[in-house]
Amino acid sequence: MIVKEPVKISPLTSARHQLSKVADILGMDPGSRERLTYPDRVVETHSPVRLDNGQVRMFPGYRVQHNNALGPYKGGLRFHPDVDIDEVTALAMLMTWKCALVGLPYGGAKGGITVDPRELSVRELEALTRRFTNDMVSVFDPKKDIPAPDLNTGPREMAWIMDTWSVAHGYAAPGVVTGKPIAIGGSLGRAEATGRGVVANLLELLKFKGQPHKGARVAIQGFGNVGGTAAHLAHLAGLKVVAVSDMYGGYHNEDGLDIPAMLKYSQANGSLRGFPEADPMDNDALLTHDVDILIPAAMENSITEANADRVRAEFIIEAANAPLTPDGEAILERKGVTIIPDILANAGGVIVSYFEWVQGQSELFWTEDEVNLRLQELVERAFDNVANLVTSKGLSFRMGAYSIGVGRVTEALRVRGLYP
Ligand code: GLU
Repeated sequence: MIVKEPVKISPLTSARHQLSKVADILGMDPGSRERLTYPDRVVETHSPVRLDNGQVRMFPGYRVQHNNALGPYKGGLRFHPDVDIDEVTALAMLMTWKCALVGLPYGGAKGGITVDPRELSVRELEALTRRFTNDMVSVFDPKKDIPAPDLNTGPREMAWIMDTWSVAHGYAAPGVVTGKPIAIGGSLGRAEATGRGVVANLLELLKFKGQPHKGARVAIQGFGNVGGTAAHLAHLAGLKVVAVSDMYGGYHNEDGLDIPAMLKYSQANGSLRGFPEADPMDNDALLTHDVDILIPAAMENSITEANADRVRAEFIIEAANAPLTPDGEAILERKGVTIIPDILANAGGVIVSYFEWVQGQSELFWTEDEVNLRLQELVERAFDNVANLVTSKGLSFRMGAYSIGVGRVTEALRVRGLYP
């Protein structure tokens, strides 16, 4: 038997592949293609932290600003051992298309620190976040580049960043990050926004396909902020969530999982490990489980050429960024699977980040209902715009979404011109 070595799939190669595909569809001029293939700026830092045992350790950190044709750079910061320049650059590019697709006045960026946050104490994590912010103090700016939560970061980290940046500048600057705690100018509804947008897209897709959502069977890979919220809202909407997993493994119940009980359990125990009222399953089995809808809400490259032909779902909603490799996607498309791409499916997060920023600028805060209503409006509008291209031009949802996102950035580049 030949055992294939797992090949590390470069997220940047995948992102550039998608860009060149859409550039062909749009008949994009070579100059714009060239400009959008490369990020505007890449900043790499090494932040020293004194660990609890007294030793000093350096942590590599990155901020990649892909493009700001439409407005300030915008995008999350992730803390993960796999963070590298290739991944961050790819994700920055996706942010540019995502913001443009949903009509936000933002460019795209992403950042991260190469660290396993589970190995650090809270004090070490705070020291790292603050030192990294200090090392990026001239990069982040409410008018230039606004970070937000991503994998393993949330309101707590955003508060540390906001505080550090504010202290360095001598005034309180809540607008330097989004996804902050409510106490310092965060928006109601921001924490659930990505998962809410995922389920809104899922319901729009079923409507578009003329299929009922009640009782539709769903599997979700990932039970964090995004996957957990999506599971909850799908459950509340009457869908049957039959399988979910977190980084330690998966659980299924063919009659539908008790999602509220799982959320409670996961919150109390830090993970789903040992959840008693469902059958365990491994991650690969979850991805190929017999369901109508599969929601990858974990990391990049979950579905590749190695497992795509065994996926049984009819619909995939990309809650994570870049969960499919191009080879995996090609197999799924041949099988007739409909895929709602990341830049549409998970845009709810950055949409409410934008609302948070707008509320802060205007110093007028909205109710949670207002936030959710406006979020729903933007998701529906973006979905309809993409669905129109799917119907009229026969494009996939990904190429429809990319055509709009990349098209808007290209037009902005054209009218702004090239200086000097
Ligand atoms: N990290 C999220 C994303 O990938 C949110 C970014 C933001 O709110 O700026 O879209």
